[in-house]
Amino acid sequence: MENGSKFHLVTLGCPKNEVDSEKIAGTLFADGMESTDHPDDADLIVVNTCAFVEEAREESIETILSLAEFRNEKSKIVVTGCLAERYGGEIQDSLPEVDHVAGFGVPVSLSRKTDVPELDLLNLPRPASDKPWAYLKIAEGCDRACGYCSIPSFRGPQRSRSINAIIEEVEALQVKEVVLVAQDLAAYGRDQGVGQKSIIPLMEEIGEKVEWVRLLYLYPSELNTQLIEAISSSAVPYYDLSLQHVSSPLLRRMKRWGGDEKFRALISRIRESCPGAVFRSNFIVGYPGETEEDHDQLIDFVREMQLDWCGFFSFSDEQHTYASGLDGKVDRSLVLERLKELTSMQDEITSLKRDSLIGEKVSVLVDSRGVGRTYREAPEIDGIVSVPDSCKVGEFVDLIVNGAIGPDLETELL
Ligand code: SF4
Repeated sequence: MENGSKFHLVTLGCPKNEVDSEKIAGTLFADGMESTDHPDDADLIVVNTCAFVEEAREESIETILSLAEFRNEKSKIVVTGCLAERYGGEIQDSLPEVDHVAGFGVPVSLSRKTDVPELDLLNLPRPASDKPWAYLKIAEGCDRACGYCSIPSFRGPQRSRSINAIIEEVEALQVKEVVLVAQDLAAYGRDQGVGQKSIIPLMEEIGEKVEWVRLLYLYPSELNTQLIEAISSSAVPYYDLSLQHVSSPLLRRMKRWGGDEKFRALISRIRESCPGAVFRSNFIVGYPGETEEDHDQLIDFVREMQLDWCGFFSFSDEQHTYASGLDGKVDRSLVLERLKELTSMQDEITSLKRDSLIGEKVSVLVDSRGVGRTYREAPEIDGIVSVPDSCKVGEFVDLIVNGAIGPDLETELL
């Protein structure tokens, strides 16, 4: 593409995709292109898709089709991301609207055509963030084999980036908060043979460059005393534990570690060593074989452990996964009933937790005019904090919580 031609980039899916998109944008800028918010004005339309579950795939295809309507005779559509990686052949065959399908590792550059050597998106440069925080992907792929998950089959085994490459990216981002993401974050570095828990020196080094380091997606068996202590000293005490369920037999069917007692002990240990710790977790509802007893056990856990944030997702039967061959499929209406019960219980817990902060002094990072976050809220995932308009964007400010509406907080100047 010529210098000055324009691209329109749409990102679907998880934070990891957002990082990829920023790298794609960085590459296109380096090629002399400009970004546009208007697809009808673009020479290149890039859709970074998600294929995690059926709804995500549908949304990706709908987005491609709706963007195709904005094409003019010279513009091209490129599809990248998980859908491209997993169903590239099918997209090429069934969507004539798409000019090029680029899996991971292939930069979306029409100036280089399709015979380019593969580059790893992971280590491509990225422009400075336009927000005071940024996601930072420290590894790609996953070495585990959770029964329901297709990610390892198309993202491949874990490939960790070097600490030096990550630190360079942190410096270029110029942010106050870095949110570390990977499929299996605490396993960072294991594939490089540099020893267990290399996430710790990485986190410490990033902690010297930015005010807040936040870790997302922690596999619970990885959280040993050493890592908990390191999080207390170098990161924000925000524990995003990937629990998925609490029933031991069901977790074994998921091919995952843990169980009710182990999880309770872990959370109590973290709370003892860090009373201000905030917890988020995700749970799958309706995994094949989930009994009424399993569900009741999860209900008791959620009620008693009082985690700050929880996401509940219905089981999605993914092709080529271990779970898709399992018996004991749970009826859809029962799954919805269980989801509703869990979600409404957790909404109440979250609201009460937020109410309990009223009257407290909090340090808030102002993300945009009138909106900020304390360490308790991960960006774009949890609630937000309304701040007075006079608070400067990109700065930390001490405020008093004077109200709470559901998951969100309201504040006033001290
Ligand atoms: S740890 Fe996460 S990405 Fe890896 S297999 Fe399990 S669910 Fe999938």
